[in-house]
Amino acid sequence: MSNLPSHARVVIIGGGAVGASSLYHLAKAGWTDCVLLEKNELTAGSTWHAAGNVPTFSSSWSIMNMQRYSASLYRELGARVDYPMNYHVTGSIRLGHSKERLKEFNRVVGMGRYQGMDLDILTPGEMTSRYPFLETHDLTGALYDPYDGDIDPAQLTQALAKGARDLGAKVIRFCPVTGARREKDEWVIATPQGDIRCEYVVNAAGYYAREVGKMFGRDVPMMVMSHQYILFDEIPELAAWSKEVGHKLPLLRDVDSSYYLRQEKYGMNLGPYERNCRAHWVTPDDPMPEDFSFQLFPDDLDRLDWYLNDAVVRVPILGTAGLSRIINGPIPYAPDGNPLIGPMPGVPNAFEACVFTFGICQAGGAGKVLAEWVTEGQTEWDMWSCDPRRYTDYTDQNYCIAKGMEIYGHEYAMHFPKHYWPAGRNKKLSPIHDRIAALGAQFKPYNGWERAMWYAKPGDDTSEEATQTWGREGPWAKRIEEECLAVRDAAGILDLPGFSRFRLKGEGAREWLSGLVTGRVPKPGRIGLAYFADDKGRIVTEMSVMAIEEDFFFLITAATAQWHDFEWLRKHRPADAAFTLDDVTANFACQILTGPKTRAILAEVSDADLAMPWLTHQTAQIAGRDCQLVRVSFAGELGWEIHTKVEDTATIFDRVWEAGQMHGLEPFGMEALDSLRIEKGYRAWKGDLSTDYTILQGGLERFVDWSKPDFKGKAALEREKQQGVAKRFVTLTVEAGECDAPYMSTLWFDGQVVGETTSGNWGYRVGTSIALGMLRADLALPGQEVEVEIFGDRFKATVQPDRPLWDPSNERLKA
Ligand SMILES: Cc1cc2nc3c(=O)[nH]c(=O)nc-3n(C[C@H](O)[C@H](O)[C@H](O)COP(=O)(O)OP(=O)(O)OC[C@H]3O[C@@H](n4cnc5c(N)ncnc54)[C@H](O)[C@@H]3O)c2cc1C
Repeated sequence: MSNLPSHARVVIIGGGAVGASSLYHLAKAGWTDCVLLEKNELTAGSTWHAAGNVPTFSSSWSIMNMQRYSASLYRELGARVDYPMNYHVTGSIRLGHSKERLKEFNRVVGMGRYQGMDLDILTPGEMTSRYPFLETHDLTGALYDPYDGDIDPAQLTQALAKGARDLGAKVIRFCPVTGARREKDEWVIATPQGDIRCEYVVNAAGYYAREVGKMFGRDVPMMVMSHQYILFDEIPELAAWSKEVGHKLPLLRDVDSSYYLRQEKYGMNLGPYERNCRAHWVTPDDPMPEDFSFQLFPDDLDRLDWYLNDAVVRVPILGTAGLSRIINGPIPYAPDGNPLIGPMPGVPNAFEACVFTFGICQAGGAGKVLAEWVTEGQTEWDMWSCDPRRYTDYTDQNYCIAKGMEIYGHEYAMHFPKHYWPAGRNKKLSPIHDRIAALGAQFKPYNGWERAMWYAKPGDDTSEEATQTWGREGPWAKRIEEECLAVRDAAGILDLPGFSRFRLKGEGAREWLSGLVTGRVPKPGRIGLAYFADDKGRIVTEMSVMAIEEDFFFLITAATAQWHDFEWLRKHRPADAAFTLDDVTANFACQILTGPKTRAILAEVSDADLAMPWLTHQTAQIAGRDCQLVRVSFAGELGWEIHTKVEDTATIFDRVWEAGQMHGLEPFGMEALDSLRIEKGYRAWKGDLSTDYTILQGGLERFVDWSKPDFKGKAALEREKQQGVAKRFVTLTVEAGECDAPYMSTLWFDGQVVGETTSGNWGYRVGTSIALGMLRADLALPGQEVEVEIFGDRFKATVQPDRPLWDPSNERLKA
């Protein structure tokens, strides 16, 4: 007889480490009426053969949060759920071969310490005192992570499942999910044992997530790589040393050579991420099997040769060891290597917790995050880096394969700010792509759209090698400066394809929008910034609201925010609403035309009323084609955005470009725009604007209309206003060295961390390094001096008055 219940509040599909952790965290949150369905035995997917390394290191703040949480959970889980586990906290040494690598380490040490972890930098001498078998002559330094170690992945999964069962949740094994359908606001999940109905469903099917996704009409952006590690026989020197000191060696990662080396009993385990890597199940002659439970790929030692030789030079005792076994298993990759955790795009009451490449060290944190998504609809930490909605419609299989191979082969690579990764490019091109390419554009994709980052001139070094730096200087610096100054002194034009655009139209649209945004909805003919808060008053997103008529709007938002923001709107739209809401992004293009000469340029080419003030918009004609001229400038100069139909864009651009030549019009790119906007204190989404901060902390109170009877987040914001905010948004000028402050650089005062930066850049108009950030409220006073830690070094920074550094009273904008 089937033991499948007929109903559950949540069904989780997949019983690997992540599915089990999701179940455990749901049960811990009091949601005990949850069922996990596993087609085979628990751990049958990637989990059973994982090496089980548990690092906390990440250059991403949110992923570090997840991994830190996992490590601390695992330390106490065995005792908490009464399931003892093999978990060795050995610490790890991450080797650095270059100055730039040490900078990366220093940045991570800074973030780690801010999260309460005692990460450290080691000199070569300190490395050998912890790891006597190490060859260090060519190393610059290392990062020491005392919390790193290894856990038995199967025991971890069983412990999480036991903890969940003890709280009342159910695990049903040998129960494959074969289909899903929606009936009356419920999911009906089909299995050979019958159907189970549920309110919510979670896809935690690991490398089978794409197949499970199809049951919901969702194409999960992922591919599968083969990943191997080699186990070695006992090494007598290692055995003798270990017995003498009574512990294992720290885990070693040679990230520049791209492998880890871990003590396994008295032998070693070597796990490389090879450049000459191999994707699986991506071609017709290598189809994905119906079932691969507890199976491995054949050994492929040739691929590992280089890494093996390198490791033997690094740790010579390895050279004497016999090779005992190779484990070669499937490992799923999303195009950026981060997992998918959060709402399943476009599918109601469905979530994803899948495509983990580091699912053992992330399972603990991922379960917490997933449970928050399901039970609260929001997460404690901003988790955009893992949000499934960061991908939209451009992630076809070729793209996923190209990106997965690129990421795997560069698993430990440094992600330099001016390096734009080459794989999976040209998915979406602007209608004037060829024109701006001919002008020297160096491209980077935003939500698949290729945008110019900066414009190279003949002779400029545009090689990948030139970009391997955290520094501000490089072949781009002079060009970015020239672009900024052209915008300041004459005119610049920036092609902005893929600006997300939603059309909201019909009776009740204004009233509904007003209940969602914190501020006032603009009157017809005007445009304004609007902020969307969640129920805790935290910043969900920012959109430009262009009011066409009383009940007709275009909502314009970041390219990358397309699915995220549209889903936020759709989720809050009443089922019986009389108004319509459509994503019309694909139909339009946009040019930012800005600088003091732009009025003269437009006067030559358009019939527009160019005396109309800042924050207005109008329909006009250029070269006989209609366009919308919007009097705003994210660069902080006189200017208009020219919104055009895709089919008219090239004609309009050509006319403006031609007329602009007399006025010094230059193309400018996203790098210059970032510099220009930071001088105005304009916030960037998912840096300065995130759910890690409330609207009030973000310094956005001028966008709050307290007189409105209600809006989403109002109650929380009123409470916060009464109590006073703990930290405040500030603009800082920084006496920086060769680098500007990256995201999450710590702010120091009196020997203590008192805040963090949310973005940083050089301001070419004001001639200084600038950081935006969050500072302890009592220090957020103009003139206050603090320090900012940039890649391990501290620099003096000064809090600026609460107004833009450039053109504080917006005279140039309003000119
Ligand atoms: C060689 C190797 C070494 C690794 N080493 C590490 C490491 O050291 N540290 C680390 O963090 N990560 C490591 N990983 C990655 C890690 O194994 C995975 O990220 C992790 O196991 C993923 O867990 P999961 O729960 O998401 O997926 P899985 O473990 O794959 O679980 C998914 C489950 O879903 C089930 N399922 C699929 N379809 C259905 C269906 N239709 N119905 C019901 N059930 C279904 C499967 O049977 C499976 O049990 C390694 C991977 C490999 C290949």
